[in-house]
Amino acid sequence: MNCEECNNQGWYEVANIRTETIEHVQCMNCALHEQFKETLIVDLAKVFTSASREKICEILASLCVNNVDRNEHDNLERLDNFVQSKDLIPLLAMAQAYAQ
Ligand SMILES: [Zn+2]
Repeated sequence: MNCEECNNQGWYEVANIRTETIEHVQCMNCALHEQFKETLIVDLAKVFTSASREKICEILASLCVNNVDRNEHDNLERLDNFVQSKDLIPLLAMAQAYAQ
């Protein structure tokens, strides 16, 4: 989302005439958008629970491989090393990082 109210800062400056100071005010447009995303993630996760475990894993694996490949600071060899050693903890951490 590109917020025209705060330019994606999450807040904007407002002049307080009484105290002659600049105050930072949270952008409600962005706050509501974040709240909507959190609700959507919860609702989507509920719908996904009725899919097969294999299908979910296949989609998650595709997301990881494609996101690693797109990231110029990461590489598929690093991912492959974790995969070949079946090292689940860093793989889950990586998937979670790419999900952010
Ligand atoms: Zn905003």
